[in-house]
Amino acid sequence: MDYLDLGPYPHARGTVRLPGSKSISNRVLLLAALAEGETTISNLLDSDDTRVMLDALAKLGVKYTRDGDRCVVQGTRGAFTADRLVIAAGAWSGRLVKRIGIRLPMLSGKGYSMILPPPPIMPKQPIMILDRKVAITPRADSVRIAGTMELVDLDESVTQSRVRSIFQGAASVMDLPAEPEVREVWRGLRPCTPDGLPAIGPTTSRGNVYLATGHQMLGVLTATGTGRLLAELMTGETPFMDPAPFRPDRFS
Ligand SMILES: Cc1cc2nc3c(=O)[nH]c(=O)nc-3n(C[C@H](O)[C@H](O)[C@H](O)COP(=O)(O)OP(=O)(O)OC[C@H]3O[C@@H](n4cnc5c(N)ncnc54)[C@H](O)[C@@H]3O)c2cc1C
Repeated sequence: MDYLDLGPYPHARGTVRLPGSKSISNRVLLLAALAEGETTISNLLDSDDTRVMLDALAKLGVKYTRDGDRCVVQGTRGAFTADRLVIAAGAWSGRLVKRIGIRLPMLSGKGYSMILPPPPIMPKQPIMILDRKVAITPRADSVRIAGTMELVDLDESVTQSRVRSIFQGAASVMDLPAEPEVREVWRGLRPCTPDGLPAIGPTTSRGNVYLATGHQMLGVLTATGTGRLLAELMTGETPFMDPAPFRPDRFS
């Protein structure tokens, strides 16, 4: 075990360094993706509401229609027909697939994050306060504090006491102002299945509909593995791992 210098965290009892830990910025990833394509939709960055995205895409001339079991996307460069469809709609997936007769019981594990100005001593790397289950991530000109798990059914409201407790968790190890200038409060719904495993692969009742959802607290970490497994299942390659535990129809 490798212990960090406790200097910046005067209230911490001890620290353990995990050398492989990493953090990402979703906005940077999205910007990189947009740089490859339509930069005109970059004004969508401030909203994660998909309806806004679909409306904006419609204004750009993109339309979604059906042709039997196939999905047709009419874009500015013509029509794209897909004979297979992946539903990766996070906590909303259960409600969505119900409409096509697939049973996927799902709850939303609501979590919050706050963006604060840089603290007097900025952490050099992401920190997890284990007993408070609060993560602190340094950013270019701010710090992100995230945590809490509230099981709800697609309820996106913000519970202020939860937000406050995340802040108090961070303040238990770092020196933070008692009344900080909060730049942003965000809430996200973690897609949670009853057995704690994701649903990855084809559905039996709708052979051309695949699922990739239910990753709970680890969707970012496991995204590349999910992408690889799904691609292998869709192209008929030998999967790099046993997909059986993740069968989407195991709740039917
Ligand atoms: C506070 C917090 C901290 C977290 N920290 C970590 C972490 O450190 N590491 C980690 O690995 N994971 C973490 N997670 C979990 C991670 O965010 C989730 O597991 C991951 O986002 C799930 O990815 P997803 O693509 O399945 O779902 P989502 O990220 O929820 O994406 C689903 C998307 O589908 C869209 N959608 C829904 N319905 C429709 C529809 N009808 N049509 C079109 N689009 C639709 C939604 O708008 C949404 O954009 C954290 C979560 C929270 C809340």
